Amino acid sequence: MGRPNILILGGGYGGFKIATYLQKYLQVDKANVTLISKHDYHYQTTLLHKVAVGTYSARKARIFFRKILDSNKVSFIKDTILRINPESKQVFGERGCYSYDYLVIALGFVPNTFGIKGVDEFCYKLETLNSAIRLRNNIESKFKDFDSEPLDLRFVVCGSGFTGIEFAAELGTQIDELCKICGIDKSLVKIICVSRGEQILPMFNAGDSKLAKHKMLKLGIEFIQGDVIECKSDGVIIKNKLGVLEDIKANNIIWCAGVKGSGVISNSTYFEHKDSRILVDEFLRVPKYPNIFVVGDSAICMKRDILNAPTAQLANQMGEYVGKNLVNILNDKSLSKPFVFKHKGTVCSIGHTDGVGVVFHISISGEIAAFLKNFIENKWIFSIGGIANVLKKGQFRFRSSN
Ligand SMILES: Cc1cc2nc3c(=O)[nH]c(=O)nc-3n(C[C@H](O)[C@H](O)[C@H](O)COP(=O)(O)OP(=O)(O)OC[C@H]3O[C@@H](n4cnc5c(N)ncnc54)[C@H](O)[C@@H]3O)c2cc1C
Repeated sequence: MGRPNILILGGGYGGFKIATYLQKYLQVDKANVTLISKHDYHYQTTLLHKVAVGTYSARKARIFFRKILDSNKVSFIKDTILRINPESKQVFGERGCYSYDYLVIALGFVPNTFGIKGVDEFCYKLETLNSAIRLRNNIESKFKDFDSEPLDLRFVVCGSGFTGIEFAAELGTQIDELCKICGIDKSLVKIICVSRGEQILPMFNAGDSKLAKHKMLKLGIEFIQGDVIECKSDGVIIKNKLGVLEDIKANNIIWCAGVKGSGVISNSTYFEHKDSRILVDEFLRVPKYPNIFVVGDSAICMKRDILNAPTAQLANQMGEYVGKNLVNILNDKSLSKPFVFKHKGTVCSIGHTDGVGVVFHISISGEIAAFLKNFIENKWIFSIGGIANVLKKGQFRFRSSN
């Protein structure tokens, strides 16, 4: 019998964590470990809003797998996965078919359009590094090539969760500079955030979310409450809280209204899933296929007490847990205790030097929140690439040149 094959699908927070864990802790002769991802680099999805606004360069955001992974221990294949057949233990990609003994599904999220007309056609999304670059190019050209069309300087951000708020705030903090560089009257620019409920950032308590909203209003960001029912090339139609339809005009629409799991999961037909997130047991395995582990935004736990909102923090902890269990399995040891998420806190950035959050149950805001946000991002880079990568790619109070 040859060495078992471990396939890890997706090089995000969950998948890359497992790959680096196995590189460090699994003896080479125990298994062939392969990471398959659609790009040959990792990027922090938590920083996509900065790439989209142009305050963090895409060049800096790429962490190439070949620079972190030792090919003698973990192989890398660049491919886009299309479907999985757990009966034949095969994964099908655009470029090939791959067999496995153990599989980890860590394919992340895709924006959820909820079937709303025009979202796919007319909205920018924060999904991948490439989608963030597309949005950055659009913002740049709308300012640089501004003629006299006022709608070119109007932005509608659909959604008031983390992604929508962090993006709108980052853009809000850059308007002065963009207008100054391009000689544009600042009063022509409008950023409107459409929120379903009155409370933005629903993961926070009412006080913290009110504080975040106050900071956003100070940046000049407007809020409109309502359900988006259609997106068009020149704006969105919403149903406001009185049930009246409103047409909000803008030539830039950014869809940040929710995410679901990867389409690979629903295409594969074998998995029980909710919004394309696979239902897993307390060991993060697919109950019917115990040789398949699922982490991050691809997973949803069946036990209510370990049901958690999908975040990078959760994906990272799940990745480490599965990495440990794979090492245990291959060393003929029993599995670790069931997975428990240790929630250390959540920080939402409001631009680069401000923020709001809760850390170890204590509410924080301002510079300290911004500092902790940068600390969290840097800790992640440190965990996969060490101090040298933090110095090259890290987030600091004073930005280095992009
Ligand atoms: C703008 C923004 C801000 C956010 N801020 C925060 C925050 O502050 N804190 C927080 O905890 N969370 C935040 N999140 C959520 C967080 O980013 C996700 O929960 C996290 O990325 C999930 O990790 P993951 O490993 O499941 O997936 P990802 O990190 O998305 O990784 C998925 C990987 O799979 C690859 N992939 C996808 N499809 C395929 C395919 N078909 N074939 C091959 N490879 C594929 C992708 O290229 C990627 O490498 C934010 C998200 C966004 C968009």
